[in-house]
Amino acid sequence: MPQPRKPLTLADARSILRHGTAKLWNAAQVTNDERIPRFQEARKARDLLQNLPRSDAVQIFRARAKHTLLLADRARHGWSATAACRLCGEQEESIAHVLTECRELADVRPGGWPTVPLSEILWCGNRVAMTTAATIMRKFLQRAMR
Ligand SMILES: [Zn+2]
Repeated sequence: MPQPRKPLTLADARSILRHGTAKLWNAAQVTNDERIPRFQEARKARDLLQNLPRSDAVQIFRARAKHTLLLADRARHGWSATAACRLCGEQEESIAHVLTECRELADVRPGGWPTVPLSEILWCGNRVAMTTAATIMRKFLQRAMR
C-alpha cells in the first residue's frame, strides 16, 4: 500500500484502515454476516494460551518457542556443555523427555499421560493438557535446580 506523504489526521488514518480492511474482506469474498463469526473464531484460538494462569502460559510459550530452561535448549545455544537430563542422566533433557519420558518425574505425571501427541498439547491442546504440561515442567525445574 503506498504511503501518504503528508502527516495524517487520526480521522484520515481510520478511514484508510477501514477502507483497506473492507478491500481485504471483499477480496476474500467474505460477506458482512460472516465477518463477526470469523473474528470470534480467531479470538477463541488465540485465547487458548491467554486464558491460562500467567505462570502456565509462560511455560507453554517457552516450550513452543524452544526457549525453556532445559539443557537441550541451552546446549543448542552453546550455553551448556551437556544436554544430559539433570535428574536421570539417561537421555537428553528435552521437552519431550521431561513431559513424557523421564522416570524421575513419574510421580508428577497423571495416569495415562499424555493422552494426545506432544505437539497437540503445546499447540492446540485443551486447558487441562496445557496446565498439566506446565505443572510437569515447573516440577522438573524445581527438582533440577535443587
Ligand atoms: Zn530424565
